[in-house]
Amino acid sequence: MTQYGFYFDSTRCTGCRTCEMACKDYNDLPVTYAYRRVYDYEGGDWTTGDDGTATTTAFAYHVSAACNHCAMPACVAKCPQGALEKDPDTGLVLHDDEKCIGCSTCVKSCPYEVPVVDIELMKSRKCDGCASRLAEDKRPICVEACPLRALEFGDIEELRAAHPDAVDGIAPLASPDETQPSIAILPCPAAKEPGDTTGVVANPKEVANTSEASE
Ligand code: SF4
Ligand code: SF4
Ligand code: SF4
Repeated sequence: MTQYGFYFDSTRCTGCRTCEMACKDYNDLPVTYAYRRVYDYEGGDWTTGDDGTATTTAFAYHVSAACNHCAMPACVAKCPQGALEKDPDTGLVLHDDEKCIGCSTCVKSCPYEVPVVDIELMKSRKCDGCASRLAEDKRPICVEACPLRALEFGDIEELRAAHPDAVDGIAPLASPDETQPSIAILPCPAAKEPGDTTGVVANPKEVANTSEASE
């Protein structure tokens, strides 16, 4: 089985949100949630030496993230309705509206806080890898939209081979150990490892998907 996934180059990303907005527009999402979100991760400090010179460990970088279409997806394992399944041809984790009862189990089980329940629809929602575009031999709209070409999509093993310095985890994303995400991330020099406690997400309200009604 081919396993599709995303490559993200954090050395290129400027945090412009074009990927997120293109996805929201394409999927006609409400203001309350997004399938792709851009985290601003920042931290560090200033110290002043005896001679009055200042040194800093300050850092800041952006992480654009969507569903990781994990090899061991907790959302699929935990859904009591079998409403989430891995596509046997692409490895994408797809959602079945007919089966979904909006119980939020997937929301709680995903370590990346990816799915969100739309209260108006009472269905969970998340990135499907732009499956309908892939069927037309098009790239996902987020990949297409990024002006810095910081996103790629394809066979994750081919992406990892093409980008040998890429890793499968970066702060503030969760550790890859639990679900084996299908992602390859090129860390920028400032990047920290998952579990890092030296920084904070500087835009917590922006990246918090809220289960509110769609508009
Ligand atoms: S990132 Fe979360 S929602 Fe996406 S496949 Fe992995 S566990 Fe499921
Ligand atoms: S692949 Fe499509 S649905 Fe997923 S984040 Fe990108 S644009 Fe959104
Ligand atoms: S569009 Fe590209 S550069 Fe802009 S936030 Fe998204 S991944 Fe980063």
